Amino acid sequence: MSFFQAVRLNYRAWHIWWNVCPRWFEAVILSSVVSAVSPYISLWMTARIIEELAGGRNPEIVWKLVTLTIGVTGILSFLDSVLKRLKRYETDSASCLYNRIFMDKMLSLDYEHMDSQAAYDLYSQATQNDKWSGLGLREALVLFERLVGSVAQILGGVFLTVPMFLAEIPNSSGRLAWLNHPLSVVLLMGFMLIVSTVSSVCTDKGQGYWTRYADETRFGNRLADFYVFLNKDKRRAMDLRMYNQQEKVCNVLLDRENPFKLSSKIVQYARGAMGMWMAGSKSVSALLTAVIYFFVCFKAWAGAYGLGSVTQFIGALFHLFSGISKLMNALAKMVSNGSFLETAFEFLDISNEMYQGSLTTEKRADRQYEIEFRNVSFRYPGTKTDVLRHVNIKFPIGSRLAIVGMNGSGKTTFIKLLCRLYDPVEGQILLNGIDICKYRYEDYRSLFSVVFQDFQLFSLPLGENVAGCVSYSSEQAEESLKKAGFTNWKQVMPSGLNTPLYKDLCGQGVSVSGGEAQKIAIARALYKDAPFMILDEPTAALDPVAEAEIYEQFWEIVGDRTAVFISHRLSSCKLCDTILVFHEGEIVQQGTHEELVKDRNGVYKKLWEAQAQYYAKRL
Ligand code: ADP
Repeated sequence: MSFFQAVRLNYRAWHIWWNVCPRWFEAVILSSVVSAVSPYISLWMTARIIEELAGGRNPEIVWKLVTLTIGVTGILSFLDSVLKRLKRYETDSASCLYNRIFMDKMLSLDYEHMDSQAAYDLYSQATQNDKWSGLGLREALVLFERLVGSVAQILGGVFLTVPMFLAEIPNSSGRLAWLNHPLSVVLLMGFMLIVSTVSSVCTDKGQGYWTRYADETRFGNRLADFYVFLNKDKRRAMDLRMYNQQEKVCNVLLDRENPFKLSSKIVQYARGAMGMWMAGSKSVSALLTAVIYFFVCFKAWAGAYGLGSVTQFIGALFHLFSGISKLMNALAKMVSNGSFLETAFEFLDISNEMYQGSLTTEKRADRQYEIEFRNVSFRYPGTKTDVLRHVNIKFPIGSRLAIVGMNGSGKTTFIKLLCRLYDPVEGQILLNGIDICKYRYEDYRSLFSVVFQDFQLFSLPLGENVAGCVSYSSEQAEESLKKAGFTNWKQVMPSGLNTPLYKDLCGQGVSVSGGEAQKIAIARALYKDAPFMILDEPTAALDPVAEAEIYEQFWEIVGDRTAVFISHRLSSCKLCDTILVFHEGEIVQQGTHEELVKDRNGVYKKLWEAQAQYYAKRL
């Protein structure tokens, strides 16, 4: 990557940060300038004291200088500490905002991208680079701070060393008079620049092993991330123990892929090449120390300035050199950080391609919404097989639709298209005769209450889980829980609707059972009170009594909504107006239960008989 490309990428990163936390920049600029300039002020004052001690030795002047030095140094230290504290606070806030930048992007992605492996890979690459050593967006902040600090340090150093170059050696000093020649200044500055460059190149080469190694550790890091959290993930805890998976699989994998094991490349680099480059950087710097001492002391020896100025110039030149080194190092790091920023931007630049319409769905009190699938086919992005083929179906208003079929026949995919998590690759889905793409996405989504098979509840109070928001109507939430069959919720939840679910965020949280969770999820769908109610395997986790209760109350639960539900329990489908039978991505049959069982060769009949036989055997 070229230097200019890297500057452009880092500039873009600063721009992003500026938009989310401008105060960080103010705090860093102020703090870096004060930190960089303070040593020069102390240095200058100390030089004046030494000068007076070595020259006039006037106690009054010395006393005044010492008092002034103590006062100024005290004020600067105080200011420096306050600004560092402020910077620390702003940096911590920026750190939280870093996660927000990625989280907001993740949540605003088209579902299709969110669900895709490519987007996940980019996201996990960017976050792992960040975890590895803050590379990417976070490093851009560190580099900004270094650039500001080093420029302020260089300016301060130049300001204090100019008098040294201007101080003339008397002609009587003989051979040392050549130090007055402007060439000597050019030579010293040139040497300083070369040494700074070589030293920062060596440091960069040494540290470069970390960045180069980031790629090779990705898999090991992913494993560690996954398996470390595995211990905390309660859903996996039982299987982990029963099959001793931790011992037999996780540990073996973790040992094999451990990025820091003795035989790993990073450890080998650290022992060899990495250490050599770092040592090289220090040795070159030591060479410059000698040259600075020679130059400053020879000029003083020849009578250009006094003892106090020697202290000032030596100190200033060292600070100047360290400023130049920091600047070089920051510029070199901008290049190495560039490729990590590219990954982060690749993720942040994923564009939403779903067409966002502008029509409103006009919230109709009469719920007169009709959906039609017209010749809809679909295949998942990056795959070649159609999982839905030429689906044609109209949902009459207020109808109850059941969807049955074998695993993998496309039932859930059909629901995903209906809710517009994906768009069809062929055909159209129409709402009241208009392509659903033409409606505002938020408006369209608000028409559906869905209980997915793998629904998730959150570690939040029960009421907030049901309502999906922080301020809600308690009566409506209670009513929804009752309708969903969670009649004894008051006994289970000690603080009523304020009882937190699960213990992730609160020790008093209640760990609900699978069946209770399913009832809460149904209550959540009811609370939303959308015109379409979709239930994907709504009773899978319920006991037979609860299941019977739900079906008894089914009509009441659904009310005047259009209802679609996927179920493997065919007996429950009898309640529906229409049953759609999916097979290998196609609707192969549709009708009422009575109509479908009459078709002896139909898929429905086979499914029905298989279930009937199973129950007969069990009885
Ligand atoms: P069902 O709900 O009938 O069990 P699905 O609609 O979940 O079936 O799946 C239909 C087919 O689509 C299956 O072959 C499944 O493997 C595939 N599929 C489901 N989700 C994805 C996905 N995100 N990416 C690729 N293929 C998928």
